[in-house]
Amino acid sequence: MLSYRHSFHAGNHADVLKHTVLSLIITALKEKEKPFFYLDTHAGAGRYQLSGEHAERTGEYLEGISRIWQQPDAPELLQPYFDAIRALNRNGTLRYYPGSPLIARHLLREDDKLQLTELHSSDYPLLRNEFSKDDRARVDRADGYQQLKSKLPPPSRRGLVLIDPPYEMKSDYQAVVKGIQEGHKRFGTGVFALWYPVVLRQQIKHMLRDLEATGIRNILQIELAARPDSDQRGMTASGMIVINPPWKLAQQMNTLLPWLHQKLVPTGTGHYAVNQIVPE
Ligand code: SAM
Repeated sequence: MLSYRHSFHAGNHADVLKHTVLSLIITALKEKEKPFFYLDTHAGAGRYQLSGEHAERTGEYLEGISRIWQQPDAPELLQPYFDAIRALNRNGTLRYYPGSPLIARHLLREDDKLQLTELHSSDYPLLRNEFSKDDRARVDRADGYQQLKSKLPPPSRRGLVLIDPPYEMKSDYQAVVKGIQEGHKRFGTGVFALWYPVVLRQQIKHMLRDLEATGIRNILQIELAARPDSDQRGMTASGMIVINPPWKLAQQMNTLLPWLHQKLVPTGTGHYAVNQIVPE
């Protein structure tokens, strides 16, 4: 049974990092006219009510998106991401947070395509309703890892794959590597973006070692930590692994991370980093 609900965590510092990277990759893909394909293997509900019971109970967004979306000195590079947030909060009060499918929906063009997969019995219908009038999108209740085999390569031969599982099960750390390997075999030129939480550093070290052992080239790691690594329960940091990143992404994140870290973690604990872990 799936128990993870993203509504408890929407808009937290990990979402800020993930959705910043997502919006920068989409913006880079739009620099070429040719349409592209967006595959979101673990899409969630799409829209999250921040005044809802789940988000209020944890208050995670208060230490995430709330801290940055209206800052006057926000770097220009964040504007595509913030535009997607403003589109859901037109009166200037932060009531809704867009998940990855809604950020992509806002940024994609008329001829681009979205393929969204969500398995949860409550979140899937919410996501399907969000996209009921969008001809560019297909929404399936299916296993996201399976999509990395069945939906790749896309007909357009250009695309971005976001892999964002809940890591509820320890097996997810191996499943993401296997899934990427399957996807990359079929679509070696695609951009693959994998989100990961740092709960126990050792799990991430193993995951990265397994990923490097696949032989896949051109892998970038981006990480933002709110607290130092710890063996206590709870997420201290999160990161994105990007395969075939747009050429400007590392430099853009090097510009953004000091600002994001300063605003999101005013106490200054934790760290941030951008590392090319496997060269081209
Ligand atoms: N990508 C979303 C975003 O950024 O807004 C958040 C996704 S959330 C971290 C992970 C989602 O994966 C949950 O909604 C969960 O129900 C769903 N899920 C779990 N296992 C899955 C699977 N095997 N295939 C597809 N979805 C799955």
